[in-house]
Amino acid sequence: MSDDIVYFEKQKKIYPRSVKGRYRRLKWLAMGVLLAIYYLVPWIRWDRGPHAPSQAVLIDMPARRAYFFNIELWPQEVYFFAGLMVLGAVGLFFVTSLLGRVWCGYACPQTVWTDLFVAVENWVQGDRNARMKLDKSPLSFEKVWKKTLTHILWVAIALCTGGAWVFYFVDAPTLFEQIIHFDVSWMAGSWILGLTASTYIMAGYAREQVCTYMCPYARFQSAMFDKDTLIIGYDRERGEPRGKHKQGTSWEGHGHCIDCTQCVIVCPMGIDIRNGLQMDCIACGLCVDACNDVMDRMELPQGLIRYDTQRNYEKRTLAHKTGMPHKDSIDIWRPRTFYYIAVMTVISAIMLFAFLSRSAVEMSVIHDRNPLYVRLSNGDIRNTYTIKVINKTHDDLSFRLRVEGIAPRTVSVAGPGGVSVDDLQVLADSVGTFRIMLVAPTAEAARRQRHEITLYLDAEKESNAADMETVFISAGAM
Ligand code: SF4
Ligand code: SF4
Repeated sequence: MSDDIVYFEKQKKIYPRSVKGRYRRLKWLAMGVLLAIYYLVPWIRWDRGPHAPSQAVLIDMPARRAYFFNIELWPQEVYFFAGLMVLGAVGLFFVTSLLGRVWCGYACPQTVWTDLFVAVENWVQGDRNARMKLDKSPLSFEKVWKKTLTHILWVAIALCTGGAWVFYFVDAPTLFEQIIHFDVSWMAGSWILGLTASTYIMAGYAREQVCTYMCPYARFQSAMFDKDTLIIGYDRERGEPRGKHKQGTSWEGHGHCIDCTQCVIVCPMGIDIRNGLQMDCIACGLCVDACNDVMDRMELPQGLIRYDTQRNYEKRTLAHKTGMPHKDSIDIWRPRTFYYIAVMTVISAIMLFAFLSRSAVEMSVIHDRNPLYVRLSNGDIRNTYTIKVINKTHDDLSFRLRVEGIAPRTVSVAGPGGVSVDDLQVLADSVGTFRIMLVAPTAEAARRQRHEITLYLDAEKESNAADMETVFISAGAM
């Protein structure tokens, strides 16, 4: 094995300088909105009556229910989650094909929390130069208090992050009260501590390493890029040859890049975009802000580094070589975008149809297999079924069982308790299970060996009625 091969480069600490500009403001806005959604949503209350929790968004694992405002999903409707995840993934592919790594630069949790942690670091320890100086300085009172305060604030944010995640799975005010009284279950406590630790490590230490080495999405999203995808690029034709420039002197023979490295020192990934598009670039646009600021001060047009498409950069290079005029353009409507829109439309339509046609009451019927039928002493044939009635409403419901497809002698509920098929009661938001015995007279049963029958559950409100097809077996009854 050669000693020259480097399998993993040791992390070099990056000290991004703060920057002002359009894309930085956009990042603050995205961060504010996303964090507000994440932290505040579990606190929204939603009145669902006495039989259901009053938290607007809640994934109630013990009760096996998921609540989203007015929507309540049962375990058998888990396909809605699958549909949403597929829709989200295709939506992300669609956005990536148009706008490049906009998710990575503005909305990915790793980016948002790292940005927040860097903002805290910046606030306590000062900007890039001050932080570098502090790290290099020997141990002092100033160093200890600044570092300690930074870590206290990081842990506080991480704790809120871990806590907020668990609030989506249990009633938030109840858990909050348990937390402040140090009376949390070991399950909730271990989740909070685990997520606190992972937030602290990922946003405080791992930072850009997560994007470079751990994130699978960073690896395969280039497959969604084409020449019309927006990327961050350096206008080489305009910028080169780069070099220092004295204000007021001619630009003749000089490119517009003054090699000030401002675009490099603001980069949270520590890369130099002038070397071309790199896999590490998360398209956050901060180098654009930094360079635009430099261009303003040099009284040159903005956009030496900018969001543009590969096609436009190529057109510009060709125009530069040939002297031919060129026109920048952005083509949104391309086969790839149509394909993504078509897939999203189909998935949305299927989900909408499934959602609109879901009923408040569902039933399932299992015919007893062993034995398939029983011949009674008077020659009648009896089949037994297990009926499960899912009452998704928040009211107790009563059903009347009706059979079509055979003329039974009796229909009754097995077991003690005197439950009548005319009054099958199922409590709100629960599942009722009934053993139903269907007895058919010999002559009726003997008409055929297998009768296709339908069991109907009639309810006071027609929208709460349900039915299910099954069979009545009388093979060998002759
Ligand atoms: S900020 Fe602009 S001018 Fe300065 S080094 Fe980067 S590209 Fe060149
Ligand atoms: S090169 Fe520019 S856009 Fe890319 S990560 Fe660095 S600062 Fe952000």
